[in-house]
Amino acid sequence: MVYFVGAGPGDVDLITVRGRKLLEKADVVIYAGSLVSREHLRFCKKEAILIDSSGLTLEEILEVIKIHEGRDKVIVRLHTGDPTIYGAIAEQMEGLKKLGIDYEVIPGVSSFTAAGAVLKKEFTVPGVTQTVILTRLAGKTPVPEREDLTQLSKIGASMAIFLSVKNIEDVVKKLRAGYGEDTPVAVVYKATWEDQKIITGTLKDICNRLKNEGFESTAIILVGDFLTSIGKSRLYSKDFSHAFREAKN
Ligand code: SAH
Repeated sequence: MVYFVGAGPGDVDLITVRGRKLLEKADVVIYAGSLVSREHLRFCKKEAILIDSSGLTLEEILEVIKIHEGRDKVIVRLHTGDPTIYGAIAEQMEGLKKLGIDYEVIPGVSSFTAAGAVLKKEFTVPGVTQTVILTRLAGKTPVPEREDLTQLSKIGASMAIFLSVKNIEDVVKKLRAGYGEDTPVAVVYKATWEDQKIITGTLKDICNRLKNEGFESTAIILVGDFLTSIGKSRLYSKDFSHAFREAKN
């Protein structure tokens, strides 16, 4: 059985209980060495086989799984954050299906929610926006034209932009098609890692503020008024009834 496990954003305590238990039981762990903290491997059995996938092709990963797969064998494929977001697991699952190998996906804390947490912000502030857009700039992986940042910026929702910090100038240029130049931006580098860094600003000045930081990857860009707005949710207000509480007069 193969388990795609979300390792969380960095801090090893931010894996799920189920994910940690599987790591402890695993006979083989194939981990994304470029992004997953090696601290997670401390929890593996002494005899577990640990393989860094960062230098492997899809075919090689599937080959490793094929070699080790067997009855009662636990194979963990450890991905950063949540495996369902830019995790490239679709093609791995397709490959396993063809090989007739069973698999399961264990969710994880994505870097975008981790970034929201370290900033102590809510993405869905009532009266501001009720929508979160997760997106990226096109790289080797293309982005459909209708999802270009220029288009998405016109919605004015909260946005988390992955895999794009290296091209922050491009990101800002596109975002300015829809958001005003005073729209707040936060860039969180290595959220929840020991060397985490947070740079905040607006669409007007964020490029300047990032100039000397040299962030190339492992940083997420958050944009939107949720970063500076104060919530107006009525969920906890006295005169608001809901399924679990009657309004108090
Ligand atoms: N599945 C992952 C995303 C993998 S794509 C998730 O759910 O978070 C890799 C991108 O994720 C990086 O380019 C960066 O934009 C973001 N990322 C991953 N870990 C991060 C972290 N600890 N802090 C900030 N951004 C991170």
